[in-house]
Amino acid sequence: MNSVSAPQDIIPLNQILPEDPLLMMGAGPVPIPAAVAAANAIVINHLGPTMNQVIEQVKTMSGYVFQTNSQHILGVAGPGSAAMEMAIVNLVVPGNTVLSICNGFFSNRLAEMADRVGADVQRLHIEDGKCADPDDVKKALLKYKPAIVTLVQGETSNTVFNRHLPAIAKLVSEYGALIIVDAVCTLSTMPLESEKWGVDAVITGGQKGLASIPGVSLIAFSDKAWQHVIQRTDILHHWCLDAKLADQFWYQKAYHYTAPVSGILAIHEALRLICAESLEKRFDRHQRCSLSLQTGIEAMGLKLYVEPDSRLNSVVGIALPDHIDGPELLRLMSKRHRVEISGSFGPRIVRIGQMGEQSRTHNLFRALHALGSSMQSLGASIDLPGGVAAMESSLHEYEKSRGVE
Ligand SMILES: *Cc1c(COP(=O)(O)O)cnc(C)c1O
Repeated sequence: MNSVSAPQDIIPLNQILPEDPLLMMGAGPVPIPAAVAAANAIVINHLGPTMNQVIEQVKTMSGYVFQTNSQHILGVAGPGSAAMEMAIVNLVVPGNTVLSICNGFFSNRLAEMADRVGADVQRLHIEDGKCADPDDVKKALLKYKPAIVTLVQGETSNTVFNRHLPAIAKLVSEYGALIIVDAVCTLSTMPLESEKWGVDAVITGGQKGLASIPGVSLIAFSDKAWQHVIQRTDILHHWCLDAKLADQFWYQKAYHYTAPVSGILAIHEALRLICAESLEKRFDRHQRCSLSLQTGIEAMGLKLYVEPDSRLNSVVGIALPDHIDGPELLRLMSKRHRVEISGSFGPRIVRIGQMGEQSRTHNLFRALHALGSSMQSLGASIDLPGGVAAMESSLHEYEKSRGVE
């Protein structure tokens, strides 16, 4: 007799999962294309010629998506946060000064990770809803003399876009420090020229901009950053996240740990679809869809949380009208419209994702209608037809100007 008996009340998954799945229009995970889902169902040997061919292609396609010729692109078994931690633990030497540009939840996480490896972390706090100003960064560089700077391109938590990333990366590079950029929600949805802009480590997760599954992430180190990685003589406290060990699998066809085979096959397909679409067309689709959605939301009588100058297109933040309860709104949208969006980690907002398949016109209409109709049911004053019409004409204008089907 086992001391713990087998549970008798487990419900099979097919009875838990809804027959009619919710449309995931939140801040991630995002819906995955069929080819990604199919690849995710396959397990092959993690070593050997088939896997080697897959890995070669994943690296080649990643070079395009990250816009770099670097030969130091690694996959990570883990969430976007594991890739963030991989950048931090490999580049930050205990005792280093790190300048963390803090716009919100995820940029603070990078600072916290640097704290944990024993860095002297100086936080440059940016006013909520604003992007980092290169002049302030310059002053902080001169004041703190950091070895490493961390920045989030798109702060998913409060929907702020650090649009001055190219200027900031240039300053950091002139100053002689390394810059780590979190592009989890932005990569492949908007320009990020890793090599041209001189970014030393770019991080992304699977389940946001790339439209793959959660659990396999990518990181691209610059040549300069890689020199730093290999010249270190201290032993990292992190074994799984040691980039030199990961290099054995990603560049030497040898064993590090058993790679998350299915997730790598899934990300292969996600990257392949991005390459087939082309970055130019993909950026344009994301911008066109997000701006049209924003137009529709405003025409309904709602307010966007961030001013256009610092507004992120990959995740749209909507200020909640007084007396509207965020969780209740989300419940209603899921229950009545089978559309899921996200709440927030602080500000009184809800967030609609515009990453991958979320930036498709049919999904925009479903999300906008679900939002407006549910707000109305909760007593907000909403011009639902006005919003839908404004989004329609905005999309139409773009289509006319670009000859999009
Ligand atoms: C989601 C997100 C992360 C964390 O990714 P996880 O996969 O949840 O660990 C980090 N940074 C940004 C900007 C994100 O949007």
